[in-house]
Order: sequence, then C-alpha cells, then structure tokens
Amino acid sequence: MIVLKFGGTSVQDAQAMNQAVDIAVPYLSRAPLLVSSAMAGVTNSLVTLVEAIQARDSVRADSLLGDLEARHRTVLRECAQGAILERGLQRIQDHLTDLRALAKGSILLNECSPRVHDAVLGTGELLSTAVLHSLCLQRGLDAELLDARKLIVTDDHFGEAAVLAEPTRHQVRENVRPAPGKLLIVQGFIGANARGVATILGRGGSDYSAALFGAALDAEEVQIWTDVNGIMTTDPRKVPSARSIPAITYAEAAELAFFGAKVVHPATIQPAVEKQIPVYVKNTKNPSHPGTVICSEAPGQGLRAIAGRKGATLITVSSSRMLNAYGFLRRIFEIFDRHQISVDLVATSEVSVSMTVEDKRDLGPVVTELETLGSVKLETGVAILCLVGQELWKDNRLVARVFEAIPDHPVRMISLGSSEINLSMVLKAPDLDAAVAAVHRTFFGD
Ligand code: ADP
Ligand code: ASP
Ligand code: MG
Repeated sequence: MIVLKFGGTSVQDAQAMNQAVDIAVPYLSRAPLLVSSAMAGVTNSLVTLVEAIQARDSVRADSLLGDLEARHRTVLRECAQGAILERGLQRIQDHLTDLRALAKGSILLNECSPRVHDAVLGTGELLSTAVLHSLCLQRGLDAELLDARKLIVTDDHFGEAAVLAEPTRHQVRENVRPAPGKLLIVQGFIGANARGVATILGRGGSDYSAALFGAALDAEEVQIWTDVNGIMTTDPRKVPSARSIPAITYAEAAELAFFGAKVVHPATIQPAVEKQIPVYVKNTKNPSHPGTVICSEAPGQGLRAIAGRKGATLITVSSSRMLNAYGFLRRIFEIFDRHQISVDLVATSEVSVSMTVEDKRDLGPVVTELETLGSVKLETGVAILCLVGQELWKDNRLVARVFEAIPDHPVRMISLGSSEINLSMVLKAPDLDAAVAAVHRTFFGD
C-alpha cells in the first residue's frame, strides 16, 4: 500500500482538491490511503476561534463559524451534486453543530479547557476530508472515509499530544483495510486519548500522521504533497534562489525539520525510519517534478541545506566550582529533566555551560534551581541557524566560510560535531533571515 498526504494548499479549494484526486487516481492499484490536512488557513481560523472563545466574544465566534461553514459548503457544492452533495452537506453540518455547541458552551461556562482547544482545532481536518470524500464519490471512485480519532491513540498532552505507538498500530491494523482499487481517506493532525477524547499532534502534524499510518500499515512509500518542489536548500519563500534537493537522509531531514524547515514536521521521520519507508516530498502544482526522497542513504557530501528557527532562549550557567569537578553537567540536566524542558544545543567550557531551549515556557522555576549551581544568564529572543549535510566537520574551511558570510551578525554560540551532520549557531533573532540568505549565497550561489 501507499500513503499520499496532501497539505493545506493542496486541498485549499475545489480545483486543488480535484488536482489532489487526479494525483491519487493513478495509485489506485497500489491501495492508497489519502491523508489530508485542513483547507489552507482553516486551522489558523480555528486558532482565532479559540481566542474569541477565551475572550467570550460570541459575535466574533459566530462570524468565524459562519465563514467556515460558508467556505466548506461552497467548495462542496463545486465538488458534488444530488444525493452525494446532500450527504456531504449533512456531514459538514454535523461537525459545525458540534463546533458551535463547543463554542457556545465554553463561552457560557467561561472556560476554554485544553480539551476544547484540541476539539476546535481538529475540526478543520474533519471538514476537509468530508468534502474530499464527497468529491471522490462524485468522481465515481470507491472511496471510504475513516476517522483518525478512532485510529491514532495519544496521551493527554493536549495541544501537542504524544502518540502511543502500540495502541495506534493495533487500532490502525485492525480498522484500516487498504485494497487495490479502493481510496481510503483519513484526517491528518488529529487523534484521541485512550478514552476517546479528541487531541491534536501539534501544528503541522499531518505529515506525522501520514508517517504513522505508513509505518502501521507497512507502506511501500509515503508521499507528502505540498506547495514546493520537495525539500530545498533553504526556505524558498525567504530565499528565492533555493534549489530542490533530490535526496536527503532521514537524519538530515529530521535535523532540518527540527531547526525550522516547515516543509516536513520534525516527528515525521521517526516512524518512517523504524520501517525504512522512503518518504517523497512533491509539489501538487508541479507533479512531474521529482521532488525529494528522504531515505537512509543519499549520495553527495558536504553542505545539503540551511534552516533557521526563531523563538529560542540561551541560558548560560557559570561557576568556578565547575573547574575540575565532575557531576556538574549531570546536575544541570537533572534540573531540566525535572521541569520537562528539552535542551536543544549545548556548548561547554571549563567554567560555564551554555544551552538553548525553546522559549515557549516560563523558565523562572528552572532558573531559580540553576542558581543554586552558579550564576545564570538568560538571553531571550535568540535564533538558531542550522547547516545540515554529510561529514561537515571534514571541511576545514566550512566554519570560516560561514563566519565570513555573516561578518555583521554576532554569533552567540556554535555547536558542531555532535551529529556530524549539523552545524548550529545561535544568533540574535532579527539577524536570522539575513544570515540564512548570506550563508546560502556563499554555499549555493544566487
Ligand atoms: P503543507 O500545508 O503542504 O504541509 P507547509 O506550509 O507546512 O505545507 O510547508 C511547505 C512550506 O515549507 C513551503 O511553502 C516553504 O515556504 C516552507 N519551507 C521551509 N523550509 C523549506 C525547505 N528547506 N524546503 C522547502 N520548503 C521549505
Ligand atoms: N492543519 C494543521 C495545521 O495547520 C495540520 C497540518 O496542516 O499539518 O497545523
Ligand atoms: Mg505542513
């Protein structure tokens, strides 16, 4: 079987949905499972809806709900007719009735719980797949609509739930029956906890869903259909001269995704690696372009791509007690461990340790504990620039060339070597875009 995942822009309107189905049809003989995101912009609207609920702004909530309803009904009317249209409209209506009840109830209660948050955000995928399913039926295909909330089993970490591997594998294998000639359709991004309460896998999580389904069903391959010609040397929206990369390893793609290349969700790679399933990233608007294959071995040496991520905090702990002392790093990391905060980059000297963490969370309690070990300095609003490639450390000139490319942007920390495929530098956030462009120019030309 084969998994085909379509992102938001690939299902943004009736024309895009038809194009997605055109792409899927030639794969019918390979028992495809089609995983879909919400239509472009819908998850963002649902985020706004949550904000309106939190602000108890019913007028704004009603207006957002009305827009969502109108958009999906319009697209559905362009995709289906007669009884198929009626059934599709009913399905959309049912999801919107649930969503309206959630919004109204939460506003009345003046409580927007994490559960409500996830149920609201996950509705986009339920709506888009309802439309897609009607379109496939209208086109005479043997299409079946599945419910990811009954398949992807997660923990209770609302907002970005962790997938429980074994129960998910079990549910998927028990309930999903791919077959040649049949088109299965399922939502990306959503799941449910063991008690059936809806959860989401974190923004951009549909790629991860695709890989999870692929791994559970032993897919021959996973294809991620998006709006660019595969994974490129950097974000083409920021650097138009970026070029597409024919092949990249799982490890390289994971590093790139983790450090900001939004084209694939960072968690996508892990289920694919476990089963050694190749993941193709391709362009819905340019289907004949080969795109990128992510697999275990990719030819080529040296720098492959550059990514950048803002929203990090640099924490430096300094203490002369560290001199010749053992166990110091362990004590530092135990503190992060207790507070369940993951450290991304680390650089140490004899008397200090610098680390970056995502600045999503309140670091106050961690800092208080770290201060028992030494003096602590925090720099918020920093960014990480990440270069990915094979055996980067073998190139003596690499670091020099990077520094020459960005003479005006002070580097606060550098980390090379841990994975052999990643050179990461910490910069001030406002410098990031210019630095990525300059380093890209140095290594890949204009
Ligand atoms: P989808 O909705 O299909 O999941 P996303 O918007 O999540 O699409 O991801 C595709 C976007 O990722 C591209 O439009 C591009 O701007 C961005 N992107 C960031 N880094 C890269 C990169 N290295 N290669 C390709 N695209 C990238
Ligand atoms: N619709 C979700 C989001 O916008 C998931 C996805 O598209 O991957 O984050
Ligand atoms: Mg995406």
